Amino acid sequence: MITHKLSAQRRSPQFIIALFGLVFMAVSIFLITNEYAKKSEKVIYANMFDRLKAINEIKKHKLEIYFSYRKADIQALATTQTILNLTQELSALDREFGVKGGTLEAYKALLSGFKSYDIYLKNYLKEYMYEDIMLIDVQEGHVMYAVRDQGYIGIDLNASLYKTSELARVYKRVLHDGRTHLSDMHKPILHGDDPVMLLATPVMIGNRIDAVLVLKLPSNIINSVMHFQSSSKKSLESYAVGEDKRLRSDSLLEPKLTVKNVFNQQDTTLIETQAVRDVFAGKSAKGLIKDYRNIDVLSVYSGFVIDTFTWAIITEIDEAEVVKEFEAIRYEIYTVSLVISLIVAILGYFGVQSIIRNYIIQPMEELYTIAKGFEEVIDQSSNEIFIYDKKSLYFSYANRAALANIGYTRTELLDMKPYQIKPLFSKEDLNRLLYLLTSHQQKSVKFQTVCQRKNGSRYNAAVNLQLIDIDGEEKFVAFVDDITDEQRALEEREYYYELSSHDHLTKIYNRQMFDELFARKVEDALRYKFDLYMILFDIDNFKRINDTYGHAKGDVVLQKIALEVSKNVRKSDLFARWGGEEFVIILSYSSYEAAMQKAEEIRSKVAAIDFETIGTVTCSFGVSTLKEGDAHILFSHADEALYRAKKGGKNRVEFV
Ligand code: GH3
Ligand code: MG
Ligand code: MG
Repeated sequence: MITHKLSAQRRSPQFIIALFGLVFMAVSIFLITNEYAKKSEKVIYANMFDRLKAINEIKKHKLEIYFSYRKADIQALATTQTILNLTQELSALDREFGVKGGTLEAYKALLSGFKSYDIYLKNYLKEYMYEDIMLIDVQEGHVMYAVRDQGYIGIDLNASLYKTSELARVYKRVLHDGRTHLSDMHKPILHGDDPVMLLATPVMIGNRIDAVLVLKLPSNIINSVMHFQSSSKKSLESYAVGEDKRLRSDSLLEPKLTVKNVFNQQDTTLIETQAVRDVFAGKSAKGLIKDYRNIDVLSVYSGFVIDTFTWAIITEIDEAEVVKEFEAIRYEIYTVSLVISLIVAILGYFGVQSIIRNYIIQPMEELYTIAKGFEEVIDQSSNEIFIYDKKSLYFSYANRAALANIGYTRTELLDMKPYQIKPLFSKEDLNRLLYLLTSHQQKSVKFQTVCQRKNGSRYNAAVNLQLIDIDGEEKFVAFVDDITDEQRALEEREYYYELSSHDHLTKIYNRQMFDELFARKVEDALRYKFDLYMILFDIDNFKRINDTYGHAKGDVVLQKIALEVSKNVRKSDLFARWGGEEFVIILSYSSYEAAMQKAEEIRSKVAAIDFETIGTVTCSFGVSTLKEGDAHILFSHADEALYRAKKGGKNRVEFV
């Protein structure tokens, strides 16, 4: 009993010290963590705004890419021989029957003869996922042709019922300046519930607009751009709003608020938030505002200008969701600090130093790691974001997607500058670009380039570079889109075009392409009344060259001659392989003297080429001119002239 009491007395000063230690540590850790938690609230808000801003920019960038590719599509379609032929045939039919009134049925009946066009264009629609293609005549504004919705055929865009429609307006804009135009989203004039956008471009024959080609774009494509996201945030959404305050993409948070319902007036909701007001007053900004559901959100918004109209692009997240996030983290911090206080007290009681290191310092470091976790929250965007210092140009930040693609660790990147990952850029190139931003000439700089990963492989990137104020300090922020796949598809298309239009051996136009381009040249020559000259030439004694030196050497002769002649004709002239060892040149705007002089010049240039073992090779030339637009006579005369040149001893020029 006594011993027990004694030992208890001996322990009591230690116990009091430990108790004091416990209270003191608990209070100070609580105060410190509380302060830290408050600070991190601010950081979370700021980071969330940065992240929303990044998403907002990416959405605009994606829309821009989408519309510019569609523009390229329709412009390419408008110059195909199919559309040019269809336009001419329809115009002829329209002139004869007129698509108005009583003759409309007769006109429509005749359209059944256009099956091959229908099939080609239906395939085109399917492949490119467009809704419809229409052709509108330029004299009277009649819809002459529609691939899918035949109800449009015969519609008169000047009639009072239709003249204020989006279709009529976009049509008139094309006629006015001869360029490609896009309409804002609208409900189509005929049946169909889904709103559409219209892309229209002129069909040109020579310098004249012969018809207007219209593509109907599906509206759900805007949804897919705005809705695509990799975030796990439930209330995070981006959407577009038009100048009429109506949505251009479906709401993710209000299932009934869809573009379809809005344009059918089943839902009359107008988006009249601070964000929309600001954008259409010309202001881009961010803030804590109320959204269209009257709920508090963190909002970042800016204007997107296309053609003649503007959309507000808005990216938002519910404030409640952001708050929930840091409350969870704050709770975690408090719990950890409490546990640490307890451990400190126990350790104080036993006074064991080495355990302090293991059980205090380490958990403190973990606490720090949790705090660092705030940053991770903003790090999850699937788009690549690089941030670098305005003065030193050293990278200061790159998000996960960026690091994953580029292959460097964050620490490695901190020692690098942007031109080190862009092999096509020198330091000077970069400075020139950045000057556009620092001198405030431009708000953003967009360009395509190549990025090099740590392992040396490369990818094509679309970069949107901006100077952004981050916590009172200006930094360069690069939003990078890996567009390797898109680029590859484009190159493939070009490759196949090259393959089908060029001669494999000599790389000049093949016969098929010649026929196509020649037809256009003849049309132009007739319309603008200039002369065309044809030079047909054939290599002399070529069979002997093949027989003596072999087919491979013969091929080289063909290639060298083609190259030499290419250098000696103008861009506006047409030079093609006619077949075998025969070539053809079409000269426009040429006089008889000029054409003969050109043929003579080419003859002597070819005869002067040194083919090494073979020596020199000559060609014979036949020249003719287009008479009364008869292409057959042009060919047969050139043929006859060439025959005369061969008969007269070869290596000479003749005219018939
Ligand atoms: P001429 O002076 O009367 O034109 O005599 P020629 O020997 O040039 O005329 P001919 O038409 O008898 O022979 C043409 C030869 O060109 C026959 C064919 O084997 C050769 N040839 C055609 N295309 C090619 C080719 O792509 N490569 C090679 N190496 N030879 C070709
Ligand atoms: Mg021949
Ligand atoms: Mg020959």
